Amino acid sequence: MRALCWHGKGDVRVDDVPDPTILDSRDIIIRVTATAICGSDLHLYDGFMPTMESGDILGHEPMGEVVEVGKAVTNLKKGDRVVVPFVLACGSCFFCRRGEHSGCDVSNPNAHMAREAMGQSPAGLLGYSHMLGGFAGGQAQYLRVPYADVGPIKIDSGLSDEQVLFLSDIFPTGYFAAELCGIEPGDTVAIWGCGPVAQMAIRSAWMLGAGRVVAIDRVPERLRMAEAGKAETINFDETKVYDRLMELTGGRGPDRCIDAVGCEAHGAGSADAVMDKVKTAVNLATDRAHVLREAIMCCRKFGTLSIPGVYVGAVDKMPMGAAVNKGLTFRMGQTPVQRYLRPLLEKIEAGAIDPSFVVTHRLPLEQAPEAYKTFRDKQDGCIKVVLRP
Ligand code: NAD
Ligand code: ZN
Repeated sequence: MRALCWHGKGDVRVDDVPDPTILDSRDIIIRVTATAICGSDLHLYDGFMPTMESGDILGHEPMGEVVEVGKAVTNLKKGDRVVVPFVLACGSCFFCRRGEHSGCDVSNPNAHMAREAMGQSPAGLLGYSHMLGGFAGGQAQYLRVPYADVGPIKIDSGLSDEQVLFLSDIFPTGYFAAELCGIEPGDTVAIWGCGPVAQMAIRSAWMLGAGRVVAIDRVPERLRMAEAGKAETINFDETKVYDRLMELTGGRGPDRCIDAVGCEAHGAGSADAVMDKVKTAVNLATDRAHVLREAIMCCRKFGTLSIPGVYVGAVDKMPMGAAVNKGLTFRMGQTPVQRYLRPLLEKIEAGAIDPSFVVTHRLPLEQAPEAYKTFRDKQDGCIKVVLRP
């Protein structure tokens, strides 16, 4: 089959690779009909994620048609149409039973590697490095889905691929991020980033009772899409984010802050000015957490900071003094997608949201290398790419 393989920093290629086969009785194989590129893939593309190997198949936002079913999978059959969550979870360990599927204790066969880096191992993830399981990803014609008796959700309705595809990751992730905020009716929610995750977080914040949503980015098309979602926007190239957020909230700061950017943001850097302004004793060096620092400085006292943005390894120069003295609550994590699949599919079916609004580019799998560049560099108004294998 054809699959998009990682070969090093900025080097991805569509290669001929062997078709996947059933390796465990809980596996299924799907023929991928649609598969997206995620901001998380950019951390791999940009070479920030260790334990990648040349030839690894990328992709963790796939859906498709079931073509083969392992013996232990009784809830799915050949021909079913499924969306596959990026988190792999056994469904019965301590964490899965609590709905904390991204903490699954069982699904990462390379748990020893993750433990070395993180103390404990989180769940295995599709197409996301050897430390997180070494599973082949879904930017391919076919995909082996482990723990298929727990993860994939069957789509019975006539919804299009693009309407349901983002259940695999970004819709649950945006919703999870908003939910982690603990939004109280009328709260002001500030969201850093207007990428695909942030776009879903904006819509989710409204669903969860926000009174006001402010979204921050500098890419005009992304700011416009946020405005279409009824967010007020700040272009961080033109306006000082801290000053504007204080102005909008009577000097108090937003109640809830969401960092939907993560590490080594492409074009980060607005926070340094804020840090100067408030004259904290932080000696800024170049590092990869501008947004996190800025959100800590902007958030109101006793507010909540939710972090869906992905950070890899250690991040320094965190103004923890400010966080402690302001009484902030930090919440974060890889999304326990399984928990959200059914309720969010119901929202799509009920017409409460159509996540396909985020798609700007539709391309064949063969053009995936160009698609990665276009998405990374935000060329041509690119916000979300769907590949059609
Ligand atoms: P993206 O790269 O398309 O979007 C990031 C956006 O942040 C861009 O529009 C960029 O212009 C903007 N940005 C950069 N610097 C900024 C700054 N200083 N202030 C404000 N905005 C800034 O990515 P995405 O697909 O939307 O994903 C966003 C983040 O969420 C990534 O870190 C990704 O890895 C992470 N993610 C996490 C989960 C999870 O389970 N927690 C799941 C999916 C994605
Ligand atoms: Zn993703």
